[in-house]
Amino acid sequence: MAEVKRMFEQCKNVVITTHVSSDGDAIGSSLGLYEYLTRKGKMVTVMVPGYYPDFLKWMKDADKILLYDRQKARCRNIIAMADLIVCLDLNEPGRMEELAQPVLASNAKKVMIDHHLHPEQFCDLVISYPDASSTSELVFRIIDSIGGLQNLSKAGAEDIYAGMCTDTGKFSYNSNDPDIYMILAELLKKGIDKDKINRRIYNNYTEARFRLLGYILSEKLQVFPEYHASLFTLNREELRNFHYLKGDTEGVVNMPLEIKGTKLSIFMHEDTEKPRIFVSLRSVDDFPANKVAAEFFNGGGHLNAAGGQLHCPMDEAIEIAKKAIEAYKDLLQAE
Ligand code: 5GP
Ligand code: MN
Repeated sequence: MAEVKRMFEQCKNVVITTHVSSDGDAIGSSLGLYEYLTRKGKMVTVMVPGYYPDFLKWMKDADKILLYDRQKARCRNIIAMADLIVCLDLNEPGRMEELAQPVLASNAKKVMIDHHLHPEQFCDLVISYPDASSTSELVFRIIDSIGGLQNLSKAGAEDIYAGMCTDTGKFSYNSNDPDIYMILAELLKKGIDKDKINRRIYNNYTEARFRLLGYILSEKLQVFPEYHASLFTLNREELRNFHYLKGDTEGVVNMPLEIKGTKLSIFMHEDTEKPRIFVSLRSVDDFPANKVAAEFFNGGGHLNAAGGQLHCPMDEAIEIAKKAIEAYKDLLQAE
């Protein structure tokens, strides 16, 4: 904490970055820290690898976030000026995709603040707590520990709340640590309207996305009751039919876990740009989704929330997913 405090005090030009397909925690922790550091008079830029979902754009100053894939030259110039780079919700440079190159090449001091397992050592300071609910929680704890809570604005509190809320599925998993609720109390004292934030995040979809949900549940979901597992997939044509916007399927992989006894849910969808398939896995209790992701889907992640990628046609991907379920039969069937 002493070291991160010194870094936050000595820096002038800060770049905050996070992982590709930035989610609520990635954007929430980034803008939360941005609020804190700008209030301390620092020049701060939040820069993400590419597109992030519209349902996060209500956050204050979200319109100032730079997308590396759209503004490479400008981003590179800003990185070249930076004396501190903060990598949030990110444990390995590869998760920044092309943005990794200028970040790694920079001479700026680097600090990682993250809650994924197995952090790679590419930063001067690594603050990694895999037990934390979210990186946003860690940002709050750091600001609090270094005596900066008065510099956390209401907007910053909203950002941190959004990150904690989305990474715990509205406090329904990874959320047994009593401290989380002490932190929530502090955020509420900053005047945030958490009910309104929940609506902005969760009641903010297009009609087409809502109908996509119906299509998944009625037409696409395969349930393997004897394995306590389920699988659904979406190809490009299906995504197009429902006017898919990135972010539309976020969280949907959790839904099959609502089926009694289900331990593992797998969702695979084709990327709309490159020829690849994104894989999402969710599990409950001690079933290791991250091990399945590493073994079958070139990925990793948390025990109960993991992901990866495949580079093959969808029918082959489906076979791989079925093999994965078969391989973990014993654990899936255990009481
Ligand atoms: P999601 O299903 O929301 O895309 O990803 C859930 C979690 O899985 C992420 O928070 C991340 O920890 C992990 N994850 C997703 N995709 C990948 C990947 O391609 N590689 C690795 N190592 N982890 C991933
Ligand atoms: Mn996170």
